[in-house]
Amino acid sequence: MPELPEVEYTARQLRTAIVGATIKDTQVFWERTIGYPALSDFLAEIAGCSVLAVRRRGKYLILDVSGDLILTIHRRMTGNLLLLPPGWEIDTSLRERDTTAWNTRGPTFYSAGEPNEVDPVELRYCRVCFNLTGGRRLAYTDPRKFGRIELWPREREMEALAGLGVEPLGEEFTVEGLARSLAGRRGAIKQVLLDQMVIAGLGNIYADEALYYARIHPLRPAQSLTLDEIRLLHEGIVTVLTLGIEHGGTSFSEYRDLWGEAGDNYNHVRVYQQDGKPCARCGTLIERIVVGQRGTHYCPGCQKLIVE
Ligand SMILES: [Zn+2]
Repeated sequence: MPELPEVEYTARQLRTAIVGATIKDTQVFWERTIGYPALSDFLAEIAGCSVLAVRRRGKYLILDVSGDLILTIHRRMTGNLLLLPPGWEIDTSLRERDTTAWNTRGPTFYSAGEPNEVDPVELRYCRVCFNLTGGRRLAYTDPRKFGRIELWPREREMEALAGLGVEPLGEEFTVEGLARSLAGRRGAIKQVLLDQMVIAGLGNIYADEALYYARIHPLRPAQSLTLDEIRLLHEGIVTVLTLGIEHGGTSFSEYRDLWGEAGDNYNHVRVYQQDGKPCARCGTLIERIVVGQRGTHYCPGCQKLIVE
């Protein structure tokens, strides 16, 4: 699942690639991917818009486009964006031939011109394709179909991104603020970290990594953390997210960057999906437990549940 670093990395790639480009028209292959407004309005409003800026907020990718609109993309489980050079064609004939297969796989992309660097396999499950003037295409793929793309008037951005907590790489994310949001919360710290209304953008991978960094057991009640622990946790969150961005995001299965490349951060994680391997700090074997239905990885040696 793309978390903050993966979305930030995509935003940075998109910024250099498509700011100034114009969206000629948009093809939607799975209607429910468009969350707002109604499909016909979406298609009419986005046509002819130029991309003015690319931003990120939590796990949302935000494109500021002309007409005082914002295009928000939330990839959820398996969404990806791929930018295709001119020369790619789209075959939608499956829609008429086999509706069931179409609803799963979407259209087929093929490159009409010279050999392309993008593997057509990465273009399966395309749900939406933004066709740019000049022939490039920005393809949104999403096997599981949970991702959503929306188009909002800019003055309604608060509404479009309702319920998002503090931005962990922004100046507003402070030790004192984190302490305030953990106070009075009896739930496991791991679950509180995953709550997007507390911290926007943190997901399963980086929550596990941040807790490991701070030597805090994932089941510790959030309100039981000392100020020193909160200080370390704050540092851990910022550190693991920043490193994740530097490594181009973490790829386990579906995540790809804008050019279809897997991120490198998987080679740098310390606990996430490392169960059975020795902890780099103390040699104890990393364990996996389930917290709030999410697989959670920690070191029983240096992340103790009972604090002496
Ligand atoms: Zn350890």
